[in-house]
Amino acid sequence: MGKGRLFVVSGPSGVGKGTLIGALLRRYPEAWLSVSATTRKPRPGEREGVDYFFLDEEEFLEGVRRGRFLEWAEVHGHLYGTPAEEVERKLSEGRDVFLEIDVKGALQVMEKVPEAVTVFIAPPSMEELEERLRRRGTEGEEEIDVRLRNAQQEAEFAPSFRYKLVNDRLDHAVEELCAIYERERGDRDCARGLRREDDEEC
Ligand code: ADP
Ligand code: 5GP
Repeated sequence: MGKGRLFVVSGPSGVGKGTLIGALLRRYPEAWLSVSATTRKPRPGEREGVDYFFLDEEEFLEGVRRGRFLEWAEVHGHLYGTPAEEVERKLSEGRDVFLEIDVKGALQVMEKVPEAVTVFIAPPSMEELEERLRRRGTEGEEEIDVRLRNAQQEAEFAPSFRYKLVNDRLDHAVEELCAIYERERGDRDCARGLRREDDEEC
């Protein structure tokens, strides 16, 4: 069995990363979304080991010392990290793995795994990003402000990503993300004839 591919989806909070990856996974249930560890408190309805592994700061930093994270970063005042072991296991089983992580984490993955397929999701405008954060209703005004300020800085790193996708109309953005996935997956198994221009013949 071939090795799976690593896909990193990043971009500002509220841009629609979770929504887009959710749509992709419904279409390709064979792909796997990594479950991150975090020190933030669970939101109502979030489940341990499904949405996140919820750790206290001491446990998280012990994981850092033991090299258990493929990447980790402080995001909006909390620590978040990708547990390396499970990602490696899934890849070695031939599963494609998605990471939904912030830009600082994505930059670390680019260093460690240069072949990772990286996608930056951008909002159509800062006004629309603000609107989406408000509509989602999971953060208060102060938290929304922090996220919008971070979004400006994160946008500066967009050129470091292999792909940039503007999440304007949701159905278009889902199709674009799926096309990226098909194309990059085609590198490995030549699926459905969708291959990059620079590929060699399979
Ligand atoms: P992220 O995971 O990047 O923080 P979410 O996936 O939670 O963002 O999306 C933030 C909010 O924006 C959600 O309420 C979601 O339903 C909405 N949303 C996502 N994509 C679009 C879109 N293309 N147009 C309008 N609203 C969207
Ligand atoms: P939330 O707390 O809203 O679930 O996530 C906040 C931010 O943390 C999002 O931008 C999300 O992409 C990012 N994030 C989630 N998991 C990880 C992770 O494992 N590593 C990094 N670097 N960022 C993460």
